[in-house]
Amino acid sequence: MIRTLLFLSAVALLSLVAAWMVQNDGMITADWMGYHIEASVAAVSFILLLAVVGLVVAFFALRHTVRAPSRFLQIFRSQNVTEKGLHQLTLTVAALAEGDTKKALACAAKAERLLDDQPLATLFAAEAARRAGYADEAEHKFTELLGHKTTEFLGLKGLLAEATRRGDTKEALVIARKAQQRFPRATGLLPLVIAMYKQGQQWSEMLRALDTLEKPYGFFSRQKRPNHSIHIRKEQALGWLMRGRQLMQEQRKDDAISAFKDAHNLQPEWLPATLALLDAYMEKGHLMQAGRMIRDAWRKTPHTELARRFFRLHDKTPAKKLYKLSEQLVSKNPHHFESHRLLADAALEAEFFKEARTQLKLALEERETTSLCNLMAELEEKEGNREEADRWRKRASNSYMDATWICHACGHHYNAWDYHCSACDETETIEWENSHRILPGSSMKYQAVAKASDKPIWEEV
Ligand SMILES: [Zn+2]
Repeated sequence: MIRTLLFLSAVALLSLVAAWMVQNDGMITADWMGYHIEASVAAVSFILLLAVVGLVVAFFALRHTVRAPSRFLQIFRSQNVTEKGLHQLTLTVAALAEGDTKKALACAAKAERLLDDQPLATLFAAEAARRAGYADEAEHKFTELLGHKTTEFLGLKGLLAEATRRGDTKEALVIARKAQQRFPRATGLLPLVIAMYKQGQQWSEMLRALDTLEKPYGFFSRQKRPNHSIHIRKEQALGWLMRGRQLMQEQRKDDAISAFKDAHNLQPEWLPATLALLDAYMEKGHLMQAGRMIRDAWRKTPHTELARRFFRLHDKTPAKKLYKLSEQLVSKNPHHFESHRLLADAALEAEFFKEARTQLKLALEERETTSLCNLMAELEEKEGNREEADRWRKRASNSYMDATWICHACGHHYNAWDYHCSACDETETIEWENSHRILPGSSMKYQAVAKASDKPIWEEV
């Protein structure tokens, strides 16, 4: 703009000068080396102007020619530096693949210097530092990445992984929330975010994050990616179950029941969800629903935990009537081990000793467990066979232990399912264990993202 104005002013000025000269023209006379020259002032001025312009043009052309080699050298040099930088980046990637973190660190540092702190070089430097276990350096680099629009996401992901690794749940949640706000559709980050919410036991937030994860894929991908969908459903069921527990503690029992229902509907075969809903019904006094649920579940898979709730539901029912109800319950699944056990228990209470013995024998044929041997001892005792009773009690101590909830990480036994093992501080390790060939720590489940993985941060999920 300024240049144009200057140019226009110059043109205007020149026109004024030219007009003035034409109006006030005169003659210039010169005698030089025997020549007599006579010309008008305007013509001389014009020739002089041409000469000045010619000189200026010649000066710039000469300067350009003189400078050309050094300029060329400069361009060549910068190209050379970029090439060297890229070469160092290649070496970094190769070193990372080899697992040579020291070399990766050195190459990444060189690449950063040569490439003048290009975000790509910083990203590799961060990754190398992360792998080498230099947490502070890695965090510093990931923070640097936040400054570039193109790498902000990677920076957040790296910082989140670092915070998770050092167990700083509070900080990780702050980053997770920020990441979710900045990149609401970035599903690559969500598994980390979800793992974080789980670790912080922030179930409502976790469920919201899971919703986001499910949305971008929609209906078609559910068919295309059934495993993906199954995994999400599992996580959602866990989220709703744990949210229900929180609501139960807050005495919001109706909300809790609806949360447990969600968990149960998402994973109908998952026992902890079934039991949570069942217990909530019983606590709220919805005994009809509880009874129906036990019958439905028993039809599919009889279970010790269901039997326990069946007896609790009918703890005021007279023993003989309870035996009748037990017969009704097992009628849809009469040959199951748990059905024999439940009937034996009810028959013994009702003092139907013959029936109790038949059912106990059927169950013992399948598996000789401590509780079955004890029931047998009780039966012998009640029938006056002291010696037999003692024999069964001895057998009880040598038999299989009863199925129960066990932490797979440390082998600790529990009376009920829980998300968190208080003995070893692991989560999602407590499962129902039928047999007892347990080797503690043999089946460690996946542990969120707490450990530095071999995958680079841009791939890690
Ligand atoms: Zn444990």
